[in-house]
Amino acid sequence: MKAGNNTVVRFHYSVSDLEGTPIDSSREREPLAILLGHGGLIPGVEHAMQGRSAGERFDVTIAPDDGYGPRRPELTQRIAKKYFRNPDSLRPGMQTTLHSNDGHRTVTVTKVGSSVIDVDLNHPLAGLDLVFDLEIVDVRAATDEELAHGHVHGEGGHHH
Ligand code: ZN
Repeated sequence: MKAGNNTVVRFHYSVSDLEGTPIDSSREREPLAILLGHGGLIPGVEHAMQGRSAGERFDVTIAPDDGYGPRRPELTQRIAKKYFRNPDSLRPGMQTTLHSNDGHRTVTVTKVGSSVIDVDLNHPLAGLDLVFDLEIVDVRAATDEELAHGHVHGEGGHHH
């Protein structure tokens, strides 16, 4: 079966920047499972998977517009330390998770003051050209329930 919209693809990935510096990889973990065509992955990766079959391994270079978007310098914010779970352990350059009424997001600490912390709200990979090494582990048809929910159930997916 070939990967396409409304198929469930299990895959491994490694991602690096254009210089080959590793950023993240699934290779030490279980493969990820994704319901293709539902926006669960960045557009460049979803697009590169179309038509692929189990066992295929390939590289794809993805520009920010098909990745995590451009980096927006204005997306910085000064936030009181009390909103951080572990403010005293934070140093510039570290990533942490901010919890708010809107959910949570990963931010990068840019400056630590005595009562406030400056953070960069851009996605850590925003603005970067990324090289993905992708390996399709297997492809199957999605179940009706998965299509209704818009995500994968079972192995590599949601359990509920
Ligand atoms: Zn579900």
